[in-house]
Amino acid sequence: MRPGELEDPLGEDKTRPEECIVHKYPDRVLFLAIDTCSVYCRHCTRRRITKGGEAELTRDQMRRGIDYVRNHPEVRDVLISGGDPFLLGEERLESLLAPLSEIPHVEMIRIGTRVPVVLPMRVTDSLARLLRRYAPVYVITHFNHPKEVTPEAREACERLVDHGVPVENQAVLMRQLNSDARIIKELSHKLLRSRVRPYYLHQMDVAEGCEHLRTPISKGLEILQQLRGHTTGLAVPHLAVDLPGGGGKVTLQPDYVIERGERETLFRNYKGETYAYPEPEETDCSCPYDEVWQARSRESGR
Ligand code: SF4
Repeated sequence: MRPGELEDPLGEDKTRPEECIVHKYPDRVLFLAIDTCSVYCRHCTRRRITKGGEAELTRDQMRRGIDYVRNHPEVRDVLISGGDPFLLGEERLESLLAPLSEIPHVEMIRIGTRVPVVLPMRVTDSLARLLRRYAPVYVITHFNHPKEVTPEAREACERLVDHGVPVENQAVLMRQLNSDARIIKELSHKLLRSRVRPYYLHQMDVAEGCEHLRTPISKGLEILQQLRGHTTGLAVPHLAVDLPGGGGKVTLQPDYVIERGERETLFRNYKGETYAYPEPEETDCSCPYDEVWQARSRESGR
């Protein structure tokens, strides 16, 4: 391991109240459902889990994880990951989705998977129907390069979307593999044609054995600058850095502000031209109906 590299770069193990639960952010949890994948990625951040030794959850561990979510009313979003949850049998996956979706405060479920990319034949109509039954279930997949958007992968993504399951992509920026605006733009365009939204472009985590793949922060910003304004806004992912040690995600974008004044802000646009945005006369932004709205929400128990 090189200096600065970490076995658990996102500090997940210190916020793991149950074997299968990582509770780092206030209103959402990560549910680690399995430790195996259909491909083992060189850049994996969870190699400590996917290298084996944790195994598929026992029914008892899974029940404890579901109970944890049930007992934490602040959790409104559950991200099921691992490993790759699409490697679970459908009965097993349903035994997780069904009780989670019955918990009143769980508003949405996300599933992180690389299966549509590397094992697209696993995305059957039956799997897509299962996910749709427990909507809203969002699939977060992981294409890193336009060459990965094969006809089969596209078909898998479209099958999910056709069944009413939204698909979003997160890519990881890797030095000399996809660290180029032309490649990221082509990836975004191919994803959008497959009805997948390019969601995150991740700065590589400081995971063990990945130093040679990391790019400087300035490279991600440069790529974003070459996308914003030069292509559809939907094709521009959020550039995210997951802070080492468990600080959570922050997003970055090129700085377009030249000068911030009391009456106006001066911007540089994507072509380098200067434009001014005037401040409104009235600057009080408090919402007069907010208290009424909150009182009504409390009354109706929402
Ligand atoms: S599929 Fe995901 S969890 Fe599995 S090795 Fe790749 S990045 Fe890691």
